[in-house]
Amino acid sequence: MNFNELNLSPELLRAVEDMGYTQTTSIQEKTIPVMLQGLDLIGQSQTGTGKTAAFGLPLIQSIVPSDKKRPQALIMCPTRELSIQVAEELRKFAKYTENVRTVTIYGGQPISVQIRELKSGADIIVGTPGRIKDHIDRHTLKFEDLKVLVLDEADEMLNMGFREEIEDILSYLPSERQTVMFSATMPQPILNLTEAYMKDPEFIKIKTSEMTVSTIEQILYETNQGTKQDLLLQLLEIYRPELSMVFCNTKKMVDDIASLLLSKGYGAAAIHGDMKQEMRSIVMAKFKDRKINILVCTDVAARGIDVDDMDIVFNFDLPQEIEYYVHRIGRTGRAGKTGIAISLITPRQKYLVNVLERLTRAKINKKPLPTLAEVQEIKFHQMKTEMRKLLAKEVPDEIKRIVEELVDEGFSLEEISRALLFKTIGGDVFKEIKSPASLQKVVTHKGYSNLTLDVGNAHGIAAAHIVSCIAEASGISGRDIGKIRIGERTTTVEIPVQHDKAILEEVNKATIKGYTIKAVLSPVVDRPYEKRTYGGSGSYDRNRDFGNRSKGPRRSNYTEKN
Ligand code: ADP
Ligand code: MG
Repeated sequence: MNFNELNLSPELLRAVEDMGYTQTTSIQEKTIPVMLQGLDLIGQSQTGTGKTAAFGLPLIQSIVPSDKKRPQALIMCPTRELSIQVAEELRKFAKYTENVRTVTIYGGQPISVQIRELKSGADIIVGTPGRIKDHIDRHTLKFEDLKVLVLDEADEMLNMGFREEIEDILSYLPSERQTVMFSATMPQPILNLTEAYMKDPEFIKIKTSEMTVSTIEQILYETNQGTKQDLLLQLLEIYRPELSMVFCNTKKMVDDIASLLLSKGYGAAAIHGDMKQEMRSIVMAKFKDRKINILVCTDVAARGIDVDDMDIVFNFDLPQEIEYYVHRIGRTGRAGKTGIAISLITPRQKYLVNVLERLTRAKINKKPLPTLAEVQEIKFHQMKTEMRKLLAKEVPDEIKRIVEELVDEGFSLEEISRALLFKTIGGDVFKEIKSPASLQKVVTHKGYSNLTLDVGNAHGIAAAHIVSCIAEASGISGRDIGKIRIGERTTTVEIPVQHDKAILEEVNKATIKGYTIKAVLSPVVDRPYEKRTYGGSGSYDRNRDFGNRSKGPRRSNYTEKN
């Protein structure tokens, strides 16, 4: 079902569209109309089926604009994380709906902060039972105007022993209200609660296995930004998907990747946000006929594409809006099949592993980079199979003549076939991708090399851009970068001497603020850049700014812990 069949306000529909939702999930389709009628209901469906929108959208619509800002809706969640997550979703839904304020209340945050928040008024309260009860006791939270109560993940709340608090809180709520409960399971204690506190509730139960990531194997590879393209090529060799999508965050990257894949002989096509519908249809038709088997696209461009039977979804870059991750990978693992989602992350994005695991409530498998031996074994095996097939086929006489001529020139048949095979296989499978870990730790400081980049003040470059670019591209820690001198059109950075060539190579593949950069190494001994011919602007000394390393001469044998 489409969201616009549901009597939701245009403001909510617009927000839902922004979030990239096209179709409702089953629980949304069934609960939204019941909630809009103001009836009590119990919703049971698996996690990941979109229950937040199922109650969130009608709940926002039921808020009557008021200057009093006294809570009209209360949502109770079992944990602080879920409360934050639900509140964030609600704020996104209410993006275009005027005058709806959501406040989050949970244990662990100073209560004074929350009291201040509550004093400025709130239409919707999202929080954990313990802290909500606390606020009721302190009279900092009053519910005279409450109209809707939602118990999200009710079974979990009871498991965590919140029964008493919940019943306590319920006694402070107006009895004239709508009570809605969501739960993945319906054990007896839940049914007891519903009997005691709900009015003739409608029971909506959705069978499992719709929109879930449980059939998707999520895999991560950690690599530097500059080696991602090589890695993608290797992964395509290893996994050999029949149909796949490669998600990038910028249109330029989409173009680059699509051209790269085409140049390597893959049937790839880019899908652009500003591509005409007609052109898209052509690409899509080719994709459905398997004439194209890799679609390279951005999130926006992917929105209109109604294919979800990918073997693999690649996240060349993780989405900037992390929620899109679920939408992206949801294009694989459908209809009972198992799917694979592969994401390439840089060392600095390591922390996102936990975020993604929480988001998808599933384990993510972090794999070591494929070794050259692995890639070669697969590629060579496939090559041999292909050769055997080709050898069984007739070859035109003209081809035979070429071989004869080369033999006449003195080449052996073995030499000729070797050369041809090498050309066919290409150089990529002989390129080892360095694991970023090998660059990450500068164990002993042996001094610095100067790296000069052709960007500077004129390009709006700040030291932070330089540090993050170098760290991101090469995997070394920002702390291992020495002085940074920003001139008008060039910048000189001190980088650890033992990794200078590797860093140079990575940085030359990177961009800073969208500028492709050309970097060169120069020995530290002659430092023409210190003469400040640029008026000395923008000199930045990391060692001075970070107090812990400010005293005395630079330690030449500085050893990092562990
Ligand atoms: P649940 O509460 O059932 O576990 P959530 O409400 O947390 O599920 O939703 C899981 C994910 O699915 C979220 O990332 C959410 O943004 C997304 N989602 C929800 N509804 C839809 C929809 N109709 N289309 C696409 N994605 C959706
Ligand atoms: Mg939920």
